[in-house]
Amino acid sequence: MSPLSPRTGPAAWVEPGFVDGVGVALPLLTVRSAAPGPVVAIGANIHGDEVNGVAVVHRLAAWLPQQLARGVVHLMPSLNPRGLDEGQRRIPGDDLDPNRAYPGNAAGSPAERLAWRVWQELRARGTQLYIDLHTDATGAMPYAIVDRVVQGSDARALAERCVRLAEGTGLTVLREYPADRYLRFDLHRSLPGALVNQRGVAALTIEVGPRRCIDAEAVDLGTQATIGVLAAAGLCAGAAPPHGSRKGGGPWRREGGPRTTRAGLLVPLLRPGQDFHRGDSLAELRELDGTVIERLVARFDGFVVAWPEVGRVGSGTTCATLAIRDE
Ligand SMILES: [Zn+2]
Repeated sequence: MSPLSPRTGPAAWVEPGFVDGVGVALPLLTVRSAAPGPVVAIGANIHGDEVNGVAVVHRLAAWLPQQLARGVVHLMPSLNPRGLDEGQRRIPGDDLDPNRAYPGNAAGSPAERLAWRVWQELRARGTQLYIDLHTDATGAMPYAIVDRVVQGSDARALAERCVRLAEGTGLTVLREYPADRYLRFDLHRSLPGALVNQRGVAALTIEVGPRRCIDAEAVDLGTQATIGVLAAAGLCAGAAPPHGSRKGGGPWRREGGPRTTRAGLLVPLLRPGQDFHRGDSLAELRELDGTVIERLVARFDGFVVAWPEVGRVGSGTTCATLAIRDE
């Protein structure tokens, strides 16, 4: 195949293109090394309000042509351009979370049709590793998260491989909820979740930075973390150093914080990344005059991953994303 743009480095070149995303063109940049190797795809902005990954992909598109030693990297800057246009998580006109729509449906809702096209494209390109770029919240520590492999003959080996690759980010690595909740929350229908569970393809998610705006520090960190995964997969040099926020001593998994039983102002008492012990107060609910009406108390030892991006919460709100040892 002849490259559509001149070779920009000694080892690799870029082929611009797009995926026909059913009424919306999804940009696609392929960086192809002259040396054979793994086929990796990297997608960003599937949640339209999570924008830092778009800029991470742009950085990778500039860096990889000179640095890719072997293999192929397909870069998809936005898997939800219409959501990006509207500054919203979902595809306009579809209530389905676009990252709970996989493997998609050619005759389904807009999110399902888009998912189907992306799924077919990743399959046609022989993708062996997929990296999904997200952002959790302003009040979140950076982390990588791996899906539960709940089916497939080599489930255990694939799960371990995903964790190893995620360790390449240099960030804290979380595993998803236990299998029963993983399935109940439809996480096996996320793009990485469907890839590991339906196709046996290694996949992981990187969650770095605030939503809704591009943050220079988050772009630096997200780029370094992503290159670290590519290095761990043997495509290039550039292992990511352990980040200052990284939590050792795991394995850790995602867990929801205690739920509120009242409505009020949610006031976190700990910072993202901070350790706590069972019985510690994590946050309190206050009235506007400062009266504390509820304390949200830890039921286990762990650390804070993220606080929700909201001030006043209703009754029944999960007050935080936490991490607990994955026994
Ligand atoms: Zn997201």
